[in-house]
Amino acid sequence: MDCTKCDRDAVMHAAYSGAHLCEPHFLESVERRVRRRVREDDMLPADATPEDPETWVVGLSGGKDSVVLTDILHDTFEEDPRVELVALTIHEGIEGYRDESLDACEELVAERGIRHEVATYREEFDVEMDDVAEDDPLDMAPCAYCGVFRRDVLARYADEYDADKLLTGHNLDDEAETALMNVFEGNVEQVAKHFDASLGPFGERNEKDGMIPRAKPLRDVPEKEVALYAQLRDLPVHMEECPHASEAFRGEIQDLLLKLEENHPGTRHSIMAGYEELASLAADEYGDDEDGETVGECEECGAPTTQDRCRKCALVDAVESV
Ligand code: SF4
Ligand code: ZN
Repeated sequence: MDCTKCDRDAVMHAAYSGAHLCEPHFLESVERRVRRRVREDDMLPADATPEDPETWVVGLSGGKDSVVLTDILHDTFEEDPRVELVALTIHEGIEGYRDESLDACEELVAERGIRHEVATYREEFDVEMDDVAEDDPLDMAPCAYCGVFRRDVLARYADEYDADKLLTGHNLDDEAETALMNVFEGNVEQVAKHFDASLGPFGERNEKDGMIPRAKPLRDVPEKEVALYAQLRDLPVHMEECPHASEAFRGEIQDLLLKLEENHPGTRHSIMAGYEELASLAADEYGDDEDGETVGECEECGAPTTQDRCRKCALVDAVESV
């Protein structure tokens, strides 16, 4: 099959758009979508100058999504002195798995001269995910602890580096899965948070709560295309799955979504379009803390929280008390 745009052989077919694309046109289309997000989300404000650049912290795990995001951002802003990238890798204390993905990260940043920082749960919380998964004091999935710890590290390091933006490599499938999970669970508050967390232009909401604006510039790119991009560009990527991955519900949603997408191409895109509209409505309802849920500071660590103590501190204490 020929490329829709030229005479070369197509390397992929996007059923949702009908396009067949050759390698150069496919690579270009992924990059274009990422750059469009950066533009549409208004990530680079007019007052960023070479003298006063913005610092963007990118969460780099070594998996395909964050590697592709870091690589495209690096290509885009390498020559642009208004943006400084810092890649941040978090080592959760998962033997084997994270050590190997750290190698992928190091290869990527070394070749490109990207500033790279590594944070560990061991140093931050005196905790390792291998032990948490084994002890499991609150009888939850390991990812429930891990996600809270990760968000805390990301936010704190972004603060330490004086970051203006915090970027993560969530792709279209990730986002559509999360959207469906929140809807199926009836979790309207979480839907509202999606607006705070990822819609552009960056909301005053985030600034107001003392939180660093977040962005997911890969969120228009389906997972399979991210994988193909990484493969065609021969990027150093760690493909294994975490041994503690256990989100059973997400797995079911994933299967459902794949099937829906196959029978009705474009489903993921339309889920996200509708979800973003819903999130904006929900945020109006939940955003202004009218029910007295004002954001204060955790009495142990100072992180923003609506409780006396943040969730992270509560989890660290639970893990330590085993
Ligand atoms: Fe942490 Fe779960 Fe991700 Fe493993 S799969 S790194 S436990 S969030
Ligand atoms: Zn805390």
